[in-house]
Amino acid sequence: MYKKLLALASAGSLLLAALTSCSNAQAQQSENTVKIAYLPITHSLTALEEAEQLKNNDGVQVELVKYGSWPELLDALNSGRVDGASVLIELAMKSRQEGIGIKAVALGHRDGNVVVVSNDIGSAADLKGKTFAIPHRQSSHNILLNDALATAGLTIDDVNVTELAPTEMPSALASGQIDGYCVAEPFGAMGVSLGVGKVLFTSEELWEDSICCGLVLTDSFIESRPDDAKAFVEGYKSAGNSLDKESALAVAKKYMSQSDDVLETSLQWISYNDLDITEDIYNTLVEKVKAYGLSDNPPSYTDFVKNF
Ligand code: ZN
Repeated sequence: MYKKLLALASAGSLLLAALTSCSNAQAQQSENTVKIAYLPITHSLTALEEAEQLKNNDGVQVELVKYGSWPELLDALNSGRVDGASVLIELAMKSRQEGIGIKAVALGHRDGNVVVVSNDIGSAADLKGKTFAIPHRQSSHNILLNDALATAGLTIDDVNVTELAPTEMPSALASGQIDGYCVAEPFGAMGVSLGVGKVLFTSEELWEDSICCGLVLTDSFIESRPDDAKAFVEGYKSAGNSLDKESALAVAKKYMSQSDDVLETSLQWISYNDLDITEDIYNTLVEKVKAYGLSDNPPSYTDFVKNF
């Protein structure tokens, strides 16, 4: 009887040990995990690539949280339901301006936007009096529209600007509801691929070293887990440097339900290397944000950008 009890006790303690080690492993996993919000667009490929690259590593892990729109993603970021996000940098600047504790730690991508117009538009001058769609007033797409109009001596007052969901833009152009649009990719490529529009300008032609999306982290994450934050940002930049056309296409196909043709067209315009936010390129963005009326008081480089 005594022996039996001892055996039971020993089995019990083994079971307990197994359960404890299991829950320790889970705790460790969630302790090392960074929750990153993203939209399924080619502009967020660096975060997606990093999540793939770190999957089999022992250190920091990326948990991707997918959202369907910028307002939903912003809500999650601003309320601290995620540790960070790949987001339009102007939206993040606005949040920072409103007192939300976030920092921009890297660029989302380099270049990567196009101004798409209907096939009957020959030059920027033809946009006068036309209707043009952007995803959000707080976006580099708004800035690029202003830059495009400026090439013909026009301003934003010369066009009707409408905000549309990115997915609706190609069909709105096809139906004639709008005459052009500028938005995160691959929706520009989709319009071109469908033959309903053409590229009037690439972002490179309008704004050298343009900034569009940024990788942002919450202050609470950076302060409470500085080592993970550093490892995550280093892994992110390294993932960006490793993305060539082939690997970008592979990760885009995994996360986005778009045809190869649309993705290949889109990936011609973008790169992911060298994603540091330098003071020079940030200050150019700040000037444009002020000049085009997106904000009178955008956050300064030292207040908003953190380099690891
Ligand atoms: Zn972008």
